[in-house]
Amino acid sequence: MTNNNNNKEKIRTSKLSATTIKLMTLVAVLTITAIGTSQVYAHTTGYWTDYTQKYICTSSLDTIIHTNKVDPCGDLSSAAQKWNSVTYSNWSLTEASGGSGIYVYGLSNYLPSGVIAGVYPVNPTSPFDNEGKFVVVSKSSSHHFGDPTQGETDKYDYIALMTHEFGHVAGIGHNSQSSSVMKTGMVEGTFPRDPNSHDKSELRGLYS
Ligand SMILES: [Zn+2]
Repeated sequence: MTNNNNNKEKIRTSKLSATTIKLMTLVAVLTITAIGTSQVYAHTTGYWTDYTQKYICTSSLDTIIHTNKVDPCGDLSSAAQKWNSVTYSNWSLTEASGGSGIYVYGLSNYLPSGVIAGVYPVNPTSPFDNEGKFVVVSKSSSHHFGDPTQGETDKYDYIALMTHEFGHVAGIGHNSQSSSVMKTGMVEGTFPRDPNSHDKSELRGLYS
């Protein structure tokens, strides 16, 4: 793991419309800290007043996955389940085919350079107002996602990445524990996939 604790970047928060992605306008700024060589995550903390949330997998994710070891939508379910299974938490995140919810996109030319994924509130001034969120995964040709546990050690761990992003969706921020799914700094190869005791206590603190 290569870390760079001094690498600070800004990530812009946008107000997205599910039907007008190409017209996305940058409207606000969140300052976050990036640790690592090739990723920055949006960092939003807070909680939903409605604990039951839905996510919608979009077809745009298919084109970012160049391996038969990853199921772009099916593995989102795996990532969501890692948080849903946290005992004593009322939080749940389940798949929906459409409608309102958290849309997961693969997009080009949206995330800042070097960023592989981020979470964006629909309403940056009130990110937990139950209006939904957008999870964006990079479609940059320099970012490759796969399953390092199945030998694809030259790729970012897609399940770990989405578990991390869904942690943000739930309202959990970053921490520096080496075993945490919410640590910053993802490099190609293995990365924690399962929330550790600290991650779980963070979730319980918000929703139990
Ligand atoms: Zn993050």
